[in-house]
Amino acid sequence: MELQEAVKGYEEQLLKSLQESIRIRSVQGEASEQYPYGKGVQDCLDHALKTAEALGFATIDLDHQMGWCEYGEGEEMVAVLGHLDVVPEGDGWSFDPFGGEIRDGKVFGRGAMDDKGPTIAALYALAALRDSGFPIRRRIRLLFGTNEETGSNDMKYYRSHGGEIPVMGFTPDGEYPVINGEKGLINVNFSRNYTQDGDVRILEIHGGSAPNVVPAEAKAKVVCPAELAASLLKKSDDRIQYEKTEEGVQITAAGLSAHGATPELGVNAIGLLLEALCELPLSEEADRWVRFLEEKIGLETKGTSLGIEMADEISGNLSLNLGTLEGDDHSAALEINYRYPVTKSYEDCAQILEQAFADAGFTKTGERHKKSLYVPEESELVQTLLGVYADHTGLEPIPKSIGGGTYAKAIPNIVAFGPIFPGDEVREHKPDEFIEVEKLMKNAQIIAEAMYRLAK
Ligand SMILES: [Zn+2]
Repeated sequence: MELQEAVKGYEEQLLKSLQESIRIRSVQGEASEQYPYGKGVQDCLDHALKTAEALGFATIDLDHQMGWCEYGEGEEMVAVLGHLDVVPEGDGWSFDPFGGEIRDGKVFGRGAMDDKGPTIAALYALAALRDSGFPIRRRIRLLFGTNEETGSNDMKYYRSHGGEIPVMGFTPDGEYPVINGEKGLINVNFSRNYTQDGDVRILEIHGGSAPNVVPAEAKAKVVCPAELAASLLKKSDDRIQYEKTEEGVQITAAGLSAHGATPELGVNAIGLLLEALCELPLSEEADRWVRFLEEKIGLETKGTSLGIEMADEISGNLSLNLGTLEGDDHSAALEINYRYPVTKSYEDCAQILEQAFADAGFTKTGERHKKSLYVPEESELVQTLLGVYADHTGLEPIPKSIGGGTYAKAIPNIVAFGPIFPGDEVREHKPDEFIEVEKLMKNAQIIAEAMYRLAK
């Protein structure tokens, strides 16, 4: 049987399985020994494994951390990595987020696109490939991840418990044509204590909510004499608002939010607030750290004044976002999210940044690092996937580099491939998430062909 015909033949079953999967609320829940990511997640994994068994595949549940099914024989293995966990539904739905309703040619529900749709599509793609009888020389393993949205601890477990590393593979949890470069990602926390005297003093600072979001608002309460407060009130504009308080003024900075991977598209409200604070006659130690942050970061988004500006041709410049700043009258804490180009390394930037903060009296209190990912365009993996994409869409197969991190970073030798086509409406993590039935089937066909060409 022709492979594409075989995929089409599974449409009804695929839709039914996807609906069943969406109806299981697989948001990370309370952990127990039996359910490390909560019962909903385990139920959803059980469903996928049962569906795979019913299709005739051997399956494994790796200590309830994740699971897989496999087809074929051979020394080497190629992998498709999907995930069954979802982000919480949130508000604003016009459909049941866990209903799996099909209307106007779209499957609605949390996970329809991210990532249950593509994962279940991959399962039926594998069945179609087997039915077609095409010979393959590598095994194909479909990995069912369960913790992509909240830390990828599922794949850390897989790697640390002897999980086989594929020779090549892809995750349908990004976009087409292929994402072959992902910047390195560092979240770092600093804090410091300080003393204040004099009649102008910081009482409180609150800015931002997450390291990977450009803060839209930042506020500070400052003690100051009535005369100074009166003159500040006159300086209010659309970015900085001063309001009178009992002790002095409250300063509110209004920026523009953007994703932390593209801070240049936003205006950092913390940066604006720091500018305003620098104009006040703060006492020495307060002035020192406020001025340091203003001068070394402020509204910058490339780490220029910190001395870590760098770029490469594949992925562009290092990006930096001062995501949160919290303080009171004697301490300040902040979190920075920065992303270095794919051909650079942690060593190229982290020490320089840390030294600058140490010199200004800050202590590093936390750090998370995800290495950059880069698979050359000329590689067998990227060339094969680009070929499949071009053959099935007629569109230009140009690989992409991004600032964000995909599930591809969770295990070696993987790139993100699909499920989103250029120009598609992206409803991941939003209300009324959906995938068009037609696009779902297109994904299944592309995945089947990609599995075959990588394994043959
Ligand atoms: Zn995802």
